[in-house]
Amino acid sequence: MDSTLVLSRGNIDRDEITRNDPEALGLARRSPEARFILVAENSVAVDPTDNSRLLYLEAKAAREWNSREAVYLGRVGDTPYFACDVTDILPDTDVKPAGTPMMRPINLWAHEWSANESQLAVIAVCIHNWVRALQYCSRCGEPVAIHPSGWQAQCENGHQHFPRTDPACIVAIRDADDRLLLAHNPVWSGKRYSVLAGFVEAGESAEAAAARETFEETCVVVDRVEYFGSQPWPFPRSLMLAFRAWTNTTDEEINIDGIEIADARFFSREELISELRRGKLTLPSRESVAYALIEDWLGASVEEVMER
Ligand SMILES: [Zn+2]
Repeated sequence: MDSTLVLSRGNIDRDEITRNDPEALGLARRSPEARFILVAENSVAVDPTDNSRLLYLEAKAAREWNSREAVYLGRVGDTPYFACDVTDILPDTDVKPAGTPMMRPINLWAHEWSANESQLAVIAVCIHNWVRALQYCSRCGEPVAIHPSGWQAQCENGHQHFPRTDPACIVAIRDADDRLLLAHNPVWSGKRYSVLAGFVEAGESAEAAAARETFEETCVVVDRVEYFGSQPWPFPRSLMLAFRAWTNTTDEEINIDGIEIADARFFSREELISELRRGKLTLPSRESVAYALIEDWLGASVEEVMER
């Protein structure tokens, strides 16, 4: 299914049949068609001659980067794709030796890649973030063994573990004058402003979480919430559930906590564009769902309105 959200694009066949069949998985891994990408924490390797493409290695060339078994990502047509985690074997020096892969963080680069390349990178980062963090069974404390596909783990007592995703909600709130609520979090770099977001708590719906987080951080009361879309945000394992929302709260009623939020204001389209042009604020990366929500409210791409 196609999406306009940068990290939700792509049509990779996740191919659960091969994933769960050790023999088919071995054949796919050794096949001349197999392609391997390299992942380190939140980055993947790009083609050194063309940063708009990922680096694809054949099975033989990938072997030297296989510090642990490559995870199966899925296939496109006859091409099975795998990902090798090179986090622990990349040289940890400022000056990299010749031949060191060129790594690019997906939260800043995915818009440069094709839909399927972006999806391969997202799946690879998600799964390896999970595998890297999972060493012991959370039920009995014994070490776990990762399934050859990378998609499940089991301890010697038979307790099974699967990749987890933490739902978070993110919400673009418009006031009675159709202005957008944007806030600055002090942990963000520079003058970045964005829409509000927060994790869904245990036993809570995403819609309720959107309203609760908004009120906790700004005292803005959300009257209506409408689903917008979702995309993975694998840093390390969130799924962003995005909403449009409306409020009758006024500027005077905004009350920030001063800790999580240092400033929160309603912006008209003209005010936002003017402040962007003068460099008084910046927006989140183009890969983020926040950026997509802001463009949805603008009714045009940020690039387009900046050029007008
Ligand atoms: Zn166990």
